[in-house]
Amino acid sequence: MPSSWRLFLTYAGASLVPVALLGLMLSVALGGEARSRGLGEGRDQATLIARTTIEPQLDGRPLTRAMPGAELQALHRLTDRAVSAGSIVRMRLRDTNGRVVFSDDGSGFNDGSRFNDEDEALDAAHGKVVAHLTHLNADRNDTGPAGQRVVEVYVPLSTDGPVLGVLEIYLPYAPIAAEISAGLRTLYLVLGIGLAALWAILALISASTMRRMVHLAQHDALTGLPNRTLFQRRAAAAIEAAERDGGTAAVVLADVDRFKEVNDTLGHHNGDALLGELASRLATAVRPGDTVARLGGDEFGLVLPGIGSDEIRTLLDRLRAVLEAEATVGTLPLSPEASFGYALAPADGTDVDTLLRRADMAMYLAKGTRTGTARYDRTRDHYDAAQLALVAELRRAIETGELVLFYQPKAELRTGRVCAVEALLRWQHPVRGTVPPDAFLPVAEKTGLIDALTRWVLATALAQVVAWGPAFEGLSMSVNVSARNLARPDFADTVLAALSAAGVPASRLVVEITETALMTDPEVAADVLARLSTAGVRISVDDFGQGQTSLGYLSTLPLHELKIDKSFVGDLPDNLGHAAIVRSVVDLGHNLGLQVVAEGVETHQTVALLTATGCDVAQGYLLARPMPADDLVPWLADHRAGALTVEH
Ligand code: C2E
Ligand code: CA
Ligand code: CA
Repeated sequence: MPSSWRLFLTYAGASLVPVALLGLMLSVALGGEARSRGLGEGRDQATLIARTTIEPQLDGRPLTRAMPGAELQALHRLTDRAVSAGSIVRMRLRDTNGRVVFSDDGSGFNDGSRFNDEDEALDAAHGKVVAHLTHLNADRNDTGPAGQRVVEVYVPLSTDGPVLGVLEIYLPYAPIAAEISAGLRTLYLVLGIGLAALWAILALISASTMRRMVHLAQHDALTGLPNRTLFQRRAAAAIEAAERDGGTAAVVLADVDRFKEVNDTLGHHNGDALLGELASRLATAVRPGDTVARLGGDEFGLVLPGIGSDEIRTLLDRLRAVLEAEATVGTLPLSPEASFGYALAPADGTDVDTLLRRADMAMYLAKGTRTGTARYDRTRDHYDAAQLALVAELRRAIETGELVLFYQPKAELRTGRVCAVEALLRWQHPVRGTVPPDAFLPVAEKTGLIDALTRWVLATALAQVVAWGPAFEGLSMSVNVSARNLARPDFADTVLAALSAAGVPASRLVVEITETALMTDPEVAADVLARLSTAGVRISVDDFGQGQTSLGYLSTLPLHELKIDKSFVGDLPDNLGHAAIVRSVVDLGHNLGLQVVAEGVETHQTVALLTATGCDVAQGYLLARPMPADDLVPWLADHRAGALTVEH
């Protein structure tokens, strides 16, 4: 049953109670009214009989005086006729003391053992008309079986003077009741119809008020779209349906790019107008059965039941095109932009919260990479359960010695002489085997474990310099440092403390920092680098060409080395564009007074090209793969003098 019907029935049931109570009260009141009208009718008939039939017989004589026999006979005739015609049931006359002086059926005369001076008769003797609705013979001084329903009336008799006696008359109630109930039937009918109408109106009003309240509780006031509550319900239903039918469903988050700017520069009023416009565009562009909700601010959520991974791309591309069509806000034409992130059930999750969180992650990825639309990508999810387990293991690995450093030599291109080694982290996992740094460093960065990790790397690499002793003389040690390390103002202290703990001169250490790390917090980075450089530590910019460091900023830093990213070096012989980039970076580095290193050198052809550009140092598999510390000494003995020429 649809919920609106259920709601209506509930309210119909609830409003039935007051209406039924009202009906009951009215019908009780009407019943009372009917009775009193019956009595009134009886009273009128009795009074009429008294005035027109009895009083003319009395001639002003009180009934305490015995009535002449002829009169009594006349009375008997009259009443016999009326009784046999059914217009009266019984009639008596009493004197002003209440004593019966005439009775049509001979009943009620004083036989000395029973009362016959009834209170009502005495009241009537004082001039009052008294009427009751009763049964024949119900009075305490009447004998015989209880009879039909009657109106018992006592009427004072007089002829323009004092009360002469009392007429006690019993009129049949049935004809009176029939007459009244004929009138009442119409009244009851009208009342019934009125009450039914009242009930229907009450039920309708309360049901529609409730429906409105339910609507308000589930919709966004600004756009009229479903709100987060309803969104979650619809998403849960879509996921459930997907699980039941073995199908799919998608949860999508859409965020308007730079909406804050619109709000800040054009005012909230215009910001709201833009949101309203975008909301109605989205709502009309989705498929029937899809849900578009406003989750807050400039964020919309979509539930797309039964959509597949190919279909969703097409749909989201269309939605993005619809959203990004020009909008006029106030009088200004605006080109809104939006980023979409989505997660598919069941592949990316099977509950609303997980899917929402993952769609959110994907949306930030889309925003960050300016790709517009992105699906959740498990490999980028540092909060994935498996990744979190990895962090716990990594913490332990530092203590249990599962982490080791491998070393990869660098050689001067001009002479072929080895001039340095780079320390590269390896995790020798008891179960997973050797885990490459790319697989665990991002998690370590996210969780802050990177600080401990870098301290360990520094201490281990510097201890190794000492351990190698004379075999390593004249060579320097490069250590990689992450963005998170460099964002700590006390990082220079950490490095200098490691140097002095190992007793290694600062000049033998090179710190490799990626371009992106330099840009994370440029001010802190500049400060840390200045202190390191002053102490004699050399600074190398790693993966150069990958990021977007401003050259102006770069020229202000105390740098010693540029490492051209291996993505430009690897295919150097086949890629003219990369060859041009490498030439420019070499020139740029030299113009800034830096040593230029090419990493990822794998072929002699590359070596030749690099030499031709004037590049200073080469590093790569051609010279040697990263190797354990123990292998380096024999390797150096063989290659130190001419690492690049031996292979010929
Ligand atoms: P990176 O600093 O750019 O290191 C160079 C990477 O290129 C190393 O990968 C190295 O093994 C690899 N490589 C060397 N020669 C060649 C070659 O001829 N061809 C190709 N294709 N690759 C080559 P690895 O050891 O897997 O390290 C990956 C990244 O992990 C490093 O890139 C560095 O950013 C990071 N990393 C490694 N060790 C540490 C560390 O101790 N601390 C920090 N913070 N990061 C580290
Ligand atoms: Ca490096
Ligand atoms: Ca690199």
